[in-house]
Amino acid sequence: MNLANLSEPSPATPQCSAKGCRADAVWVLAWNNPKLHTPDRRKTWLACEEHREHLSQFLGVRGFLKDVVRLAEWETRPEAD
Ligand SMILES: [Zn+2]
Repeated sequence: MNLANLSEPSPATPQCSAKGCRADAVWVLAWNNPKLHTPDRRKTWLACEEHREHLSQFLGVRGFLKDVVRLAEWETRPEAD
């Protein structure tokens, strides 16, 4: 019996949100645009090691950035969505 084609489907690995980047996400950037979102709302971007700085800066200069945490840590947060 050949089991070669019965490998488990791999879970979708979250990818970096940077344009054109397909690297695995390592960081979660939580942000909020006060013009669009209520204060406790959190939008999230994902970032690889390479783009964390760039994406953080993009959100930071606009005053949107609230939190930067590792993806593994983010997923343990009960309120993550
Ligand atoms: Zn990236």
